[in-house]
Amino acid sequence: MSAAEDPGPPSPPPRLRVAVVGAGPAGIYTAEALTRQQEVPVAVDLIDRLPTPFGLVRHGIAPDHPKMRAIRDTLHRALDHPAVRFVGNVEIGRDLSCRELHAAVDAVVYTYGAALDRQLAIPGEELPGSLAATALVAWYTGHPDADRATVEAALAGARSVVVVGVGNVALDVARVLARTPAELEPTDMPQHVLDALAGAPVERVTVLGRRGPAQATFTTQELRELGELAEADVLVDPADLELDPAAEERVAADRVASRNLAVLQEWAQHTAQPGRTTVTLRFFSRPVRLLGEDRVTGVEVERTVVDADGRASGTGQTTVLPADLVVRSVGYRGGELPELPLDPRRGTVPNDLGRVLRGGEPSPGEYVAGWIKRGPTGVVGTNKHDARETVATLLADVAAGVVRPGSSGDDDLVTTLRANGADPVLLEDWRAIDAAEVALGATRGRARTTLHEWESLLAAVKDAAARTR
Ligand SMILES: Cc1cc2nc3c(=O)[nH]c(=O)nc-3n(C[C@H](O)[C@H](O)[C@H](O)COP(=O)(O)OP(=O)(O)OC[C@H]3O[C@@H](n4cnc5c(N)ncnc54)[C@H](O)[C@@H]3O)c2cc1C
Repeated sequence: MSAAEDPGPPSPPPRLRVAVVGAGPAGIYTAEALTRQQEVPVAVDLIDRLPTPFGLVRHGIAPDHPKMRAIRDTLHRALDHPAVRFVGNVEIGRDLSCRELHAAVDAVVYTYGAALDRQLAIPGEELPGSLAATALVAWYTGHPDADRATVEAALAGARSVVVVGVGNVALDVARVLARTPAELEPTDMPQHVLDALAGAPVERVTVLGRRGPAQATFTTQELRELGELAEADVLVDPADLELDPAAEERVAADRVASRNLAVLQEWAQHTAQPGRTTVTLRFFSRPVRLLGEDRVTGVEVERTVVDADGRASGTGQTTVLPADLVVRSVGYRGGELPELPLDPRRGTVPNDLGRVLRGGEPSPGEYVAGWIKRGPTGVVGTNKHDARETVATLLADVAAGVVRPGSSGDDDLVTTLRANGADPVLLEDWRAIDAAEVALGATRGRARTTLHEWESLLAAVKDAAARTR
């Protein structure tokens, strides 16, 4: 064979180019599952609209839960993988449409979460002093889009707080509001958040659950923690803990519900101690109206009964609870991304094992994982199994020839984004933000302080780039 005829060594198989939209736990676990498999070589662009990764691990998990927040270190390993590129500060639907993104890569996995709040749909809900938990949580975790003025105006002068909802987020909110400044001091909350919380005169927090203790969705660990606050006592009305036969059956069959009940029974013996904040858990209570003229002054609460299937209905018996601040924590839902289908009722993208369905049919090369796939349920780790399922579906489509590695050409996504006028923040840039947060925290003896403004986040990137030039 002459040299001209020698085909040389075989060229490596083309890499499967995948864009993952959202660098929260679901996006990061998707990237991890893609890099851990051996079937197909991959190149993953992990895109987020924020210049920072971790989604709700950064802007959801309560800052007074440092152990839980430390899961960032584990998640970071996937970002460090050579086949994964973090592409922050890029919003799909604004900087690049779904269609353009899909054309630029072989497959897209949408993991953009479920960041919108569910409404109570009762009169007065829009009054100043009524906040969605999403708004309060975004503010206390330093999300750069938080509406600081609205939250701080609602918090100023708040002595009596009503939190609507009995899930873990409601408990996070009640706990953060009932903590002392000294308890919050070591957290990574921005300084203005610590100052505003220290200045809020909160004396009473009432958590309202429309169903009974047997149906509450909080976990026992979160519940117990309420009882360990430095200067707050938890109160429960013993009458709320009397179970009907259906609730008894439920508690007997559900370990979490029975452990929760044991904790609540202990608290039912408590009485309020003078000078200490109270956190009262009220069950069988649903808000029917927020009262007030130009801001919230109270909540009209209706007593409920719960049927054998766990459904609550009103009894018509109402009382008024004074409240200067109402926080609605009744769930999250996914929002629409232009050009992507959404089931408005469930707030999720219709899918079959992670394959996006358009008009009921699988859309080749489009997938979902995490909260936008299954709804806002489970803990961080739940997204790992969920992402693995989606990646298995994607790989099955590659094996079946539905998705072809290399079919999208060689154009680099970051180059395309820059040509479109976007300013992507890459892994080194995120490291600069990370270092700036650690340095800011050190000025007050803390491990970290969250940078909470777009300007300061992007300035940290620019300052680091200027130093290395
Ligand atoms: C207040 C709160 C507290 C919680 N506390 C705990 C806890 O203590 N323990 C626990 O285990 N779990 C907790 N969870 C649950 C946990 O945070 C979720 O299971 C998990 O974050 C869901 O992951 P996700 O990746 O689907 O969504 P997310 O974490 O929301 O990530 C979605 C990402 O997509 C990005 N994004 C959105 N739109 C776009 C777009 N158009 N273009 C590009 N990027 C986009 C967002 O910026 C975000 O980074 C909590 C949740 C909440 C809301």
